[in-house]
Amino acid sequence: MRLFYALGYAAVAVFCYGVYVQIRKYRRGAALHLEGRLRTRLRDMLGTVLSHRTLDRRDPAAGGAHRLIFYGFALLFLGTATITLEYDILEPLFGIRFWHGEFYLWFSLVLDVAGVAMIGGLAYMMYRRGWLRLPKLDYARPDRVPSDPDFDRPQYRREDWAFLWILVTIGCTGYLLEATRLVWLQGRPDVWNVRWWSPVGAALAEGLRALGLTARGGAVFRHGLWWFHGLLALAFIALIPFTKVKHMFTSLGSVLVRDPLAAQRLPGIPESQAQPGVAKITDFNWKQLLNLDACTKCGRCHEACPARAVGAPLSPRDVILSLREFARATLESGTVPDAAELDVHGKSPGQVSQETLWSCRTCMACVEICPVAVEHVPIIVQMRRKLVEDGAMDPLLTKTLQTIHKTGNSFGESKRKRAGWTKALPFPIKDARKEPVDVLWFVGDYASFDPRNQKVTQTFAALLQEAGVDFGILYDAESNAGNDVRRVGEEGLYELLANANVAAMASASFKTIVTTDPHSYNTIRNEYPDFGGKYQIQHYTSFVKQLLADGRLRVTAPLEYRTTFHDPCHLGRFNKGYEAPRDVLKSLGCELVEMGRSRANSFCCGAGGGRIWIPDPVGSEKPAQNRIKEAAAIPGLEVYVVSCPKDLTMFEDALKTTGNEGRFVVKELIELIREAIPARRPEEVSA
Ligand code: SF4
Ligand code: SF4
Repeated sequence: MRLFYALGYAAVAVFCYGVYVQIRKYRRGAALHLEGRLRTRLRDMLGTVLSHRTLDRRDPAAGGAHRLIFYGFALLFLGTATITLEYDILEPLFGIRFWHGEFYLWFSLVLDVAGVAMIGGLAYMMYRRGWLRLPKLDYARPDRVPSDPDFDRPQYRREDWAFLWILVTIGCTGYLLEATRLVWLQGRPDVWNVRWWSPVGAALAEGLRALGLTARGGAVFRHGLWWFHGLLALAFIALIPFTKVKHMFTSLGSVLVRDPLAAQRLPGIPESQAQPGVAKITDFNWKQLLNLDACTKCGRCHEACPARAVGAPLSPRDVILSLREFARATLESGTVPDAAELDVHGKSPGQVSQETLWSCRTCMACVEICPVAVEHVPIIVQMRRKLVEDGAMDPLLTKTLQTIHKTGNSFGESKRKRAGWTKALPFPIKDARKEPVDVLWFVGDYASFDPRNQKVTQTFAALLQEAGVDFGILYDAESNAGNDVRRVGEEGLYELLANANVAAMASASFKTIVTTDPHSYNTIRNEYPDFGGKYQIQHYTSFVKQLLADGRLRVTAPLEYRTTFHDPCHLGRFNKGYEAPRDVLKSLGCELVEMGRSRANSFCCGAGGGRIWIPDPVGSEKPAQNRIKEAAAIPGLEVYVVSCPKDLTMFEDALKTTGNEGRFVVKELIELIREAIPARRPEEVSA
């Protein structure tokens, strides 16, 4: 027994050393001040963990199995801990015993059920890995070729299986221990007569007796088993900080420090930082290093990523795991290597390549689905900042950024032409800098300059006019909102644009902002407050919904189209604007058929994160084409509805290139609204 205690202390010592090494690693990251109250964070974390709600999303079977493992393990751990507490401390020192009588019987039953739950959950996880072989659990990487040493990382598979088998073995030997104890003590009525309070143990005991195991044999068997079970449990404890098992703690930490606006509001560059972006592993802050360790390799982000889906060399899971390996190799030893060895950019194991970083659409699908609050987008964008600083980007992107810097828009047009689309209107649009308006319309680049989108913009202006909305625009004072510039990683240019727009809006008088551009909507809503611009802002879909509800717009020619709706990333996932466009569509009389990937699981058009300015590789499928093919599978589809200027451009193009032209059309929701609410004659409008 003394030997077991010595081994127990050793296991705890190894565990504590491992925890120290991990904390030292996180402390080697950059400083970060967390916002928000600890109590609120704790409450959110507990709610997330206890409910398992993030694990249930889009994979309820895995969520259910994990729930069984989690609660089964927790109960067994607590049960074992209380037995140890009574046996080693309370009874010998204070004579206190609570492990007897009815309490003991109920506790035995609960622990037996907990063991079944845990083993059942583990068995299902094995079934997924071994038999279902889900693609998301395949570690083959899209950014490596089979000859690369880290192509499919077989050590991960070994670790996953070892983790599952160790827990199953601990659970099964626990039952065998119970059974052999019953066989050993079968002569004691106080034990044997209540054996069915441990039903699994009792059934096994009956089986062992039927096989001829005697009381003496039971005692011998139990002794050997006790050591095996105990040593396995101690090894499990000792190895927690060094293996996949540590996700039990790191995922809790990750959820605790989670930023609910991680992708929507990217961090600025602190003045103390010598150069923009992340070059070295130690440029990540401690929270990001913790994020890397929280990943459970569940593959949900890998599955959701649109870049990965079309064969681009990017998997958000692999970015995180590469960086985790890099941090482990460089920051867990006693001394930190030289700066040159901390460079996270490149193609060596643990590094992330430029091609991978530029493949990202910053669509937030990964952040949204991650059950343990890993925040991929800020990590990727901060690494891109370093590439931008070094000029390591596509020449077309360099040119576009220079154009935006020079003209304030991505089309390279003179500022004076920004409101050129208004000239074709039969009514003037107020200049919000010169006269007060109720609604300031932030138009955005695509809606202002792209000829196809200009028509939609003019239609929306007419609708506002007819609804009697008092609105105006900023004319040549409006600049590109900067949302995508920031996500490219050009933080300096983003700050210029944001400051310019905030200054322009300060010179105007308005109550609220409306925009037809979800990208502008996101950055004005979530990021401009850091630049002093705090506004009420609505996407046009919710604004129109209100106009319809108030009767200021009336549907007079209901449509009967069979439609599907594409959720723009920056309206849906980023800002939870799922309902308004659907409600408007239904008000117009349209039938709405959802695509398989909709709402939070919507599939990016491929334009986000500045990718609209970077050509896709020739011959590869584009995300927009992938999406149009999904819509084309809807029988009898007539209209593919979008509510974002960039989506209109991307999907009209994809409709042609996928050969679906003529089968259905792509339309802006604004165009359908116009169709259902035919233009009134000028005299009706003024009346
Ligand atoms: S943001 Fe979108 S494109 Fe980028 S890694 Fe995540 S899922 Fe993939
Ligand atoms: S980052 Fe999150 S979603 Fe992706 S594999 Fe890891 S735990 Fe799963």
